[in-house]
Amino acid sequence: MADPLILVHGGAGSIPAASQHAHSHGCQEAAEVGGAVLAAGGSAVEAACAAVEVLESNPIYNAGVGCALTREGRVSLDAAVMDGHSRHAAGLAALDAFPHPIQIAKMMLEEPEVLLVGHPASEWAVRRGFRRVPEDELTTEAARKQWHLVVDEGADPNFAGGTVGAVVRDGRGQLAAATSTGGTMGKKPGRVGDSPLIGAGTYADDVCAVSATGHGEAFMRAVFGVRVADAIRYGQDPATTLQRKLERTRDLFGGLGGAVMLTHDSGPHSFWTTPGMSHGWWTPEGSGCGI
Ligand code: ASP
Repeated sequence: MADPLILVHGGAGSIPAASQHAHSHGCQEAAEVGGAVLAAGGSAVEAACAAVEVLESNPIYNAGVGCALTREGRVSLDAAVMDGHSRHAAGLAALDAFPHPIQIAKMMLEEPEVLLVGHPASEWAVRRGFRRVPEDELTTEAARKQWHLVVDEGADPNFAGGTVGAVVRDGRGQLAAATSTGGTMGKKPGRVGDSPLIGAGTYADDVCAVSATGHGEAFMRAVFGVRVADAIRYGQDPATTLQRKLERTRDLFGGLGGAVMLTHDSGPHSFWTTPGMSHGWWTPEGSGCGI
């Protein structure tokens, strides 16, 4: 059986030179936290969610604290996790201000529903004991500045960058994928991206786990995640598949982005069609990062 492995991303885009070190090392730190969960015998789902939680706590990324804001300057969060072994999946979309949407998604894996949205989703989370916080607690000065550039000055929102995700293979060879984001900066209230949609931005089964980042509308129309997984299941080479599906998303659907991926017996695999994508990995032999 292949060794345990964790690979995380901190979003695709143009990462300014001044923050590249922090961006990539933040990913390595998250991968190491996920790795510690695996080393202690934790499952792929537990490790993926632990890694994403670290990234949600880091204001440099567009998830949890530091998230992108809607056109009205409000917080609206998307997150999902999929357990490749059981094929259970949970997505939350247009969620209120919760510091760790991925924890809510993890708890939702026990429910029969796959996707909860908006106010009822937030109410469900509160009933299950999660703490909703004032939106200011998740809104950084940098996010507010970027919002102003997009909403008031007409800067191209494209996609915000800084969405976070993790893919994991645990000690039993089981896979999981998790993704969390504030979505695109200045998005229409109610807009949902690819991240919480199983098969688009987040997907895992017994062969492949994938977490995407980029222009969500294109990734949704391309039905990105499950196409990667199925191509590999039916015999395509994993690294070539990831590259081709990202190029397809760009060429046929007009969206740039990137993804992290691993299979039951290969990886880490990452590719991006943007100038960069911060990422970090952990194996029992060591950890590293790149951009
Ligand atoms: N894919 C995310 C979305 O469209 C944004 C991103 O990855 O930066 O919501």
